Amino acid sequence: MMYRSLTRQQTAATLRTTIAAQQQTVVTRNSELTNATNAGALAQTQLTTATTADKNVRARVTAAQTTLTTARQNLAKAEKKKPRSNAAITKAKNAVTAATKTLTARQTEARTAATALSAAQINARTATATLATAVTNRDAAAAAVVVTQQKLTVLPTAYSLQTQATALGRDVVTQSRPTFAVADTVQVYGITVHRSVAYAFKRMLDDARANGVVLSGGGFRTKERQIQLRKSNGCPDVWTAPSSSCRVPTAIPGRSLHELGMAIDISQNGKTLSRNTTGFKWLQAHASAYGFINLPSEPWHWSITGG
Ligand SMILES: [Zn+2]
Repeated sequence: MMYRSLTRQQTAATLRTTIAAQQQTVVTRNSELTNATNAGALAQTQLTTATTADKNVRARVTAAQTTLTTARQNLAKAEKKKPRSNAAITKAKNAVTAATKTLTARQTEARTAATALSAAQINARTATATLATAVTNRDAAAAAVVVTQQKLTVLPTAYSLQTQATALGRDVVTQSRPTFAVADTVQVYGITVHRSVAYAFKRMLDDARANGVVLSGGGFRTKERQIQLRKSNGCPDVWTAPSSSCRVPTAIPGRSLHELGMAIDISQNGKTLSRNTTGFKWLQAHASAYGFINLPSEPWHWSITGG
């Protein structure tokens, strides 16, 4: 039915709500990206510091090893020296002891530095992975906004939909009129309408009622009744004078959409609609979604072509 494709306003509103939510997600993802960038920079700094500390402590281990080697060589020389000097040997032994102690301390420092470096490397890798994920998530969120915006852009305008509905309505009228019979009409809440519009019309009345707007009205009328109206509404003649020349605008018999049940004169609280009623305002906002268009000169007259 027509109303399915005529819900542009609702679709556009839904898309705008989606875009707003998606833009909020982009803000969140950007914030996460900033955090990940900062965390990544910090992790890199810590890695550089740990790498330098590790390198320095290794150099100190090497220096301590050299010192110990020299001290051992000096001790060996002192022990071989003739005549033997106990004082020189004791001094050399003390130097070996001191160098050994220093080397042990430096090796402990080196193990600590290596552990710290290993932890810094793991942190840096994790931070890099987190940053990559944050970039991917932010780009995906931004792309989602673009996709929704494109959907909104290609939505047909309300004007274009109304034009399509009018054209389709004219085709329905053209095809239905030559073979029309009263049997083509059905009752919707006591209103006689053409069966081709009955479902959309019933939906429209149901939805209006759900919004607190109770509508009724008169739809189908026979050609005989149209002839009577031409006479009672003060038209200059029955068959040729334009609708607008009557005291109350009344179509020439054979041309009214009421004769097909495709126009309905809507009333609310027992009175035909005027522009300031809640009924007119509701229809003005929603009727096009059900394929009904108002004839501007008659606020009560709604049909599938606007005629
Ligand atoms: Zn009418």
